[in-house]
Amino acid sequence: MTGLPATPRYDLVVVGGGIVGLATAYAATRNGLSVAVVEREQRLANHQTGNNSNVVHSGLYYAPGGYKARLAVAGCAETIAFCREHDLPHQVCGKLVVATEPQELPRLDELARRGDANGVENHRLDENGIRTYEPDVRGLAALWVPSTGITDYRLIAEKLGELVEKNGGEIHLGRTVTGFARRPADVVVRTTRGDLLGARVVVCGGLRSDELARLAGTDPGVRIVPFRGEYSGFSERAASLVRGLIYPVPDPAFPFLGVHATRGIDGTVHAGPNAVLAMAREGYDWRTVKPAELLGTLTYPGTLKVARTHWRYGIGEVRRSLSTRAMVRQIQRMLPEVTAADLHPAGAGVRAQAVKADGTLVDDFLFLDQAGPDGAGRPGSILHVLNAPSPAATAALPIGREILDRLGAA
Ligand SMILES: Cc1cc2nc3c(=O)[nH]c(=O)nc-3n(C[C@H](O)[C@H](O)[C@H](O)COP(=O)(O)OP(=O)(O)OC[C@H]3O[C@@H](n4cnc5c(N)ncnc54)[C@H](O)[C@@H]3O)c2cc1C
Repeated sequence: MTGLPATPRYDLVVVGGGIVGLATAYAATRNGLSVAVVEREQRLANHQTGNNSNVVHSGLYYAPGGYKARLAVAGCAETIAFCREHDLPHQVCGKLVVATEPQELPRLDELARRGDANGVENHRLDENGIRTYEPDVRGLAALWVPSTGITDYRLIAEKLGELVEKNGGEIHLGRTVTGFARRPADVVVRTTRGDLLGARVVVCGGLRSDELARLAGTDPGVRIVPFRGEYSGFSERAASLVRGLIYPVPDPAFPFLGVHATRGIDGTVHAGPNAVLAMAREGYDWRTVKPAELLGTLTYPGTLKVARTHWRYGIGEVRRSLSTRAMVRQIQRMLPEVTAADLHPAGAGVRAQAVKADGTLVDDFLFLDQAGPDGAGRPGSILHVLNAPSPAATAALPIGREILDRLGAA
């Protein structure tokens, strides 16, 4: 007999302490499973979950029948109920989606159709109708969506972490997952601070999800291309022009919602995010460059195809990143009285966008089952969450249950 301590074993090991990993762990502990969450940062929610627009999306935009449509609609109501139950900041303030050009009107109609198909209440407004909600917004027409809200996803994630621990789960911070070894009855999760065993494993690695899939010995079929979204804060004068959430009609070629103005839960107003290629996976500004990661992004055939198809849009986004004047012109389409002098830099988030080798920007949430010896969801399985962009923060609670269902562990 050696005196070595046994490797700890859990029903479920969750990689990644963002809101998707934590919601999965929360659902699992509520079902009585033993759970460990492994997060490489020293705190939870340090990446996408802690650096986003903090909007509780209604489910308006998403193609009917997809995961996004189903899980965002459920998630919108559940997020608000969770905030109420745990006394977390939130407000159901509604939002306007504003068409400023005639060619956007058919797209606004299509959004209304999608909203109807997804069961999301929405009301068409003319110019005067817009002014009753947002007196300083100019537009040809708009949709008013009453169920949209605002919150603070970092606080929600931290509360989920607290509940996981209260239910007997463990949170391991400052511990990077470096590999996986699949065995007949479980998976060895290798980390910088020793191994853990999971009967099943769920990987919610956000900006690193494709890398983690490759570490587990599977081809994810996509690469994560990091798109930074920068925010501009409004001066007090400009903030007084915004009551709630003001969105443009999104460009259907992209899974991004466009530069919007949002009054946050703390009362401050921001506009953003734009979408520029980040020079590193966690590239929160132009100075953060990781040459090997950048080279990997730039030589990936999917990135090259995206660049070839959307170069004009890309140049516009870079211009808006480097020039306040270019950014303000975008905002002035909806809020003509905002000037460049009203804007100041206000942080950024980096989107983990899965891109296929043919240049397709994956739109819906994407899961990949790496089946155990007895099939998907059985002991020895790893489930990879490969694409969980917006509205995955809104949809996290139902996504967590969806994942448990897929693991056969519900
Ligand atoms: C600019 C921006 C605006 C957005 N706005 C909204 C919005 O208003 N509403 C909305 O619903 N959604 C929004 N989103 C999307 C939302 O933020 C994400 O969908 C959600 O946060 C994804 O959560 P996640 O847990 O998958 O990823 P993350 O929060 O990125 O978590 C992944 C975690 O995995 C960890 N990790 C990575 N590699 C390892 C490893 N090897 N070992 C251990 N841990 C590892 C990371 O450190 C990280 O903490 C926005 C996103 C961005 C970027």
